[in-house]
Amino acid sequence: MKKNRQDTLIVAVDGYSSTGKSTLARDIARHYGIKYIDSGAMYRAVTLYALRHGLYDPETERLDEGGLKQALEKMDIDFFVDQSSRDQSLVLNGENVEREIRQMEVSRSVSMISRYGFVRTKLVEKQRAFALSNSLVMDGRDIGTVVFPDADVKIFMTASVEVRARRRYDELLEKGYAISFEEVKSNVEERDHIDETRKESPLRKADDAVVIDNSHLSREEQLERTLATIENKWGRAHEQP
Ligand code: C5P
Repeated sequence: MKKNRQDTLIVAVDGYSSTGKSTLARDIARHYGIKYIDSGAMYRAVTLYALRHGLYDPETERLDEGGLKQALEKMDIDFFVDQSSRDQSLVLNGENVEREIRQMEVSRSVSMISRYGFVRTKLVEKQRAFALSNSLVMDGRDIGTVVFPDADVKIFMTASVEVRARRRYDELLEKGYAISFEEVKSNVEERDHIDETRKESPLRKADDAVVIDNSHLSREEQLERTLATIENKWGRAHEQP
């Protein structure tokens, strides 16, 4: 991990599923003109690969660990940023799979695949590499606790499960996915449960993270609060004498 980061800013945004972490993380990145990395997309990409290549069976929940370990050695995971819209897409072995990784098939299996230590080790390595000499905002579940324990600012997001499921449902409907609200809600709850109780890097708030409950906050309000926290924690330390 990088030491002596004089002028770079690392912001970790962690929290429960569908709390709007990526919206906030993107807004912070846009405000400061820095990079945004969606670590969940990386776990989703590995899951998509495992499903496509028959390495994981969602019915029996069996994973071909040897096969996935081998595949991870040469798996290329990167992000493509559209310069005009600033939209980000995940590119897996040269293929834009942004749409595929958001599908329910992937959402249903991703938390099971994310439990494996060897998957996490590989992805954490890639995530840290994105920060080399770059300021960035990264969202996920273990960014403030494991990936960047010395992040300048750590945010932990939460909201009621009803609010979260409703947001996710509306988002999926808008994108044209046919799905029921109940199915979305149970997926959100199940992922939280697996993420919180897994042995390897479980989802938990870092001791020095600032909690934002956005059940009743607008997008502008959550950004305002976060920017105030960043200015307070990081801005002061970097004020010119
Ligand atoms: O952020 P998103 O909901 O797309 O993440 C999908 C899943 O990936 C999570 O439910 C979690 O199981 C896993 N994940 C993780 N660690 C991260 C980011 C995501 O385990 N840093």
